[in-house]
Amino acid sequence: MNVTKTYDVAVIGAGVFGAWAAWHLAKRGKKVVLIEAYGPAHARASSGGESRIIRMGYGADELYTVWSQNSLVQWKKFFAGAQQPLFHETGVLWLGASNDSQLRRTATVLRRCNVPFEELDQAVLEKKYPQVSFEDVRTAAGSGRSGRRSREARR
Ligand SMILES: Cc1cc2nc3c(=O)[nH]c(=O)nc-3n(C[C@H](O)[C@H](O)[C@H](O)COP(=O)(O)OP(=O)(O)OC[C@H]3O[C@@H](n4cnc5c(N)ncnc54)[C@H](O)[C@@H]3O)c2cc1C
Repeated sequence: MNVTKTYDVAVIGAGVFGAWAAWHLAKRGKKVVLIEAYGPAHARASSGGESRIIRMGYGADELYTVWSQNSLVQWKKFFAGAQQPLFHETGVLWLGASNDSQLRRTATVLRRCNVPFEELDQAVLEKKYPQVSFEDVRTAAGSGRSGRRSREARR
């Protein structure tokens, strides 16, 4: 018997954008087919693989920072429904030479958008990470757990 299935929407590619779009369309009652060349959860997609980060620092591009803030709320809701811990808040440490304009612009936007982070100088970095050479590093931005640990290191 020849059965023809019909859908409201076909989404091609089950990377993070495709999968998210298909899921939200389905939640809104659309009949969706999600087509992926390599099957579910493969490591060839740029959003697939062992791990990925939620990044909020994009220099002066505040739009991406705001999108990332909004998406983190949705990711956390999504993770809460999963049967295993998928989100690990590890923090991030962004290193820069003196006069690193990208880091400066990032710090300005993070401050404006109330993204918690801490600016660290070379002396603090050397104390916190004695195993790393910070010879050319003059400034850094730490967020999440790396920021909290650096506050502890200064006490
Ligand atoms: C190595 C790497 C690491 C990255 N790490 C991060 C990170 O940690 N955090 C972050 O925010 N961003 C990261 N990025 C950027 C981010 O991955 C991309 O912005 C985002 O993944 C794009 O998602 P996507 O769904 O459009 O593409 P992808 O995740 O690449 O998904 C596209 C999917 O479409 C499928 N496909 C393509 N053509 C067809 C076809 N004709 N038929 C069927 N299926 C098809 C592919 O197989 C793939 O699964 C990273 C990028 C790279 C390359």
